[in-house]
Amino acid sequence: MKNIRDFTLTELEEEILNLGEKKYRAKQIFAWLYREIDSFDEMTDLSKELIQKLKDNYILQNLKLSQFQKSVDGTIKYLFELNDGHKIESVMMKYKFGNTACVSNQVGCKMGCNFCASAKIGFVRSLTAGEIVSQILEIQKQSGEKISNVVFMGIGEPLDNYDNVIKAIRLINDPKGFNIGARHISISTCGIVPKIYRLAEENIQCNLCISLHSSRDSIRSEMMPINNTYHIDEVMKACKDYIKKTNRRITFEYALVDGKNDSHEDAIHLARLLKGMLCHVNLIPVNKIKDGKYEKSSTEKILAFRDTLNEQGIVATVRRELGSDIAAACGQLVRDQKTNID
Ligand code: SAH
Repeated sequence: MKNIRDFTLTELEEEILNLGEKKYRAKQIFAWLYREIDSFDEMTDLSKELIQKLKDNYILQNLKLSQFQKSVDGTIKYLFELNDGHKIESVMMKYKFGNTACVSNQVGCKMGCNFCASAKIGFVRSLTAGEIVSQILEIQKQSGEKISNVVFMGIGEPLDNYDNVIKAIRLINDPKGFNIGARHISISTCGIVPKIYRLAEENIQCNLCISLHSSRDSIRSEMMPINNTYHIDEVMKACKDYIKKTNRRITFEYALVDGKNDSHEDAIHLARLLKGMLCHVNLIPVNKIKDGKYEKSSTEKILAFRDTLNEQGIVATVRRELGSDIAAACGQLVRDQKTNID
């Protein structure tokens, strides 16, 4: 059966017409889909007959909560079970500006970055748009709090699940959906170049974050196999095109690894690469994963790296680490508790 949360309003209108119902019913149904309801019976402004038709034809995908953990800093990590039994993790982080949902878009990941726990579990499948947005609904339901920002920084590579992620963004953005502004939505990618060009054409004002982690091809290829396919200069060209077309600032994520990419020369090299670009660098102390060989850079080195970038005219900040005590920080998410590490 189809998941009713997989449809945009236009698609739902088509579905409802095919059920022999009036088109305007789709609007009513669509509005219900973004409230935390568990059953079609809760759609109180629909007739019994229509509710029955919906039950006969669609599932109201609800993720099953398997487990949750709360960090001392208020971050909550949820382990959700999908209808086919696979599991994913989602995280809610509390910031002064509001609550952020960090959502997964795949079960596992193909990209194989050697510092990331999600890569270690292999790839199972991509999530549908409905499964992606359901994570936000479930987080709101479980926490009793409203989500105001969404980041595609959970498990999976968003640009490797392009169509579903774009659809999910449109649903999140839709005034009749979650009504979260595109500027409050961020996609993070390891750098799938053709999809960056495509994203630039979508006319979505979301934030694009590029996982760079090194400005040198030899080091980046060692950390991220995708760099063998798309080298840094190609990623940069695509980023410049993105900025030109969207006029949006790009965030470069840079996980600092002791002795690998954190020297003064590395900072200068990175600043040269980014010179003149409308961008911002987000420095992340690398989180050590099980069997991982990378260690975090020291706080002094991280601050020195940031200062060098700033002196070179590149805006750089250090990302606040949230949820590391519950393995909810960057790169620590895995698809189920059996393989949970840290
Ligand atoms: N596939 C997407 C989303 C991944 S997670 C991407 O590659 O961007 C979001 C961010 O966390 C990425 O920048 C990723 O490189 C980073 N990350 C992954 N593992 C990490 C770790 N162990 N320590 C710090 N950051 C990590």
